[in-house]
Amino acid sequence: MRNNQCQMTNDLKQELRHLDSVEINWDATLAAHTSLRVGGPVSCLLSPHDVAGLRLAVQVLSRHNFPYFILGRGTNLVVGDSGVRAAAISLERGFSKLERVGSSGSIMVGAGVRLSRLLRFCLQEELSGLEFVAGIPGSVGGGLRMNAGTNIGAMADVCAAVLLLQTDGSLSRVRRSQLRFSYRKLELPRGAALLEAEFSLKPAARRSMRQQIRALLKTRQQKQPWRLPSAGSVFKNPPDDFAGRLIEAVGLKGIRIGDAQISEKHANFIVNRGQARASEVLALIHLAREKVSERFGIQLELEIQYLGNHINV
Ligand SMILES: Cc1cc2nc3c(=O)[nH]c(=O)nc-3n(C[C@H](O)[C@H](O)[C@H](O)COP(=O)(O)OP(=O)(O)OC[C@H]3O[C@@H](n4cnc5c(N)ncnc54)[C@H](O)[C@@H]3O)c2cc1C
Repeated sequence: MRNNQCQMTNDLKQELRHLDSVEINWDATLAAHTSLRVGGPVSCLLSPHDVAGLRLAVQVLSRHNFPYFILGRGTNLVVGDSGVRAAAISLERGFSKLERVGSSGSIMVGAGVRLSRLLRFCLQEELSGLEFVAGIPGSVGGGLRMNAGTNIGAMADVCAAVLLLQTDGSLSRVRRSQLRFSYRKLELPRGAALLEAEFSLKPAARRSMRQQIRALLKTRQQKQPWRLPSAGSVFKNPPDDFAGRLIEAVGLKGIRIGDAQISEKHANFIVNRGQARASEVLALIHLAREKVSERFGIQLELEIQYLGNHINV
């Protein structure tokens, strides 16, 4: 993601307006497009209807050297109060493919598909391997980019290939062996968009899959602040430890700054109790880092993606 102080020129706006298969929202505020419900405006929100529209939008933005980022479901993002001088591109609309490849265990899935819908499809097709996404609220594109997962699995375990669009408009299919996944991260070339993925799954009985999914959802509801707006885990777990345990140990569980609060239920979640501002969320992030570093000498690393001026993504 790139983020600088540039303004959209009238020429750029005109060129974007002329793109046929791209919807443009000039007044989008990211608080409305993120699960934590904080964050200011973006320069524009582009919703291409198809690959051709996306390709043209990316080419126009790149030619004007204007920053952009792909917005999934915004469930891993914290956006600054003053917003982001960049174009956000949503793949929600035109990237919803969801199909089984013959009678094999492979499925092809568009980047805009919700993980919950993907899981329902797997259940229907009796294909196992993605049960770990139960309760993860993002999209397939965001899930891959973040290598989303839990202690029972992650996207890297089941991803067989992805379709990538680069800033120059070129499309390439990249096989798993060439993808660099790590803990909560897939390395991508700058500005590249994930358009589609192939997952390699195994046949399984629907009944046992359903049981496992129900058990996973139940545990999540017991342990996590399910009903309040959040962006999921704020920090990555340090090796052999848990960020939530460390934050709780320094006495910060439940602490509140304005309407932002370190969850009373799980200390690695920051929840929005009403009208939280990004500055309040950031203050809690800094506080947790400072206290954990002072007491344990551990530098907590962000799992959430911060978009704004304070921390580089
Ligand atoms: C209640 C709750 C529980 C959660 N539990 C978990 C969990 O158990 N495990 C876990 O790993 N995560 C968890 N998360 C975090 C989050 O849901 C995942 O990281 C999710 O995969 C993010 O998907 P998204 O579509 O919302 O991505 P976004 O938040 O929109 O984006 C995340 C990053 O991916 C990039 N991106 C999105 N789409 C694309 C694309 N098509 N191409 C290229 N880049 C793209 C964005 O630019 C951004 O850098 C949780 C979040 C919440 C709110």
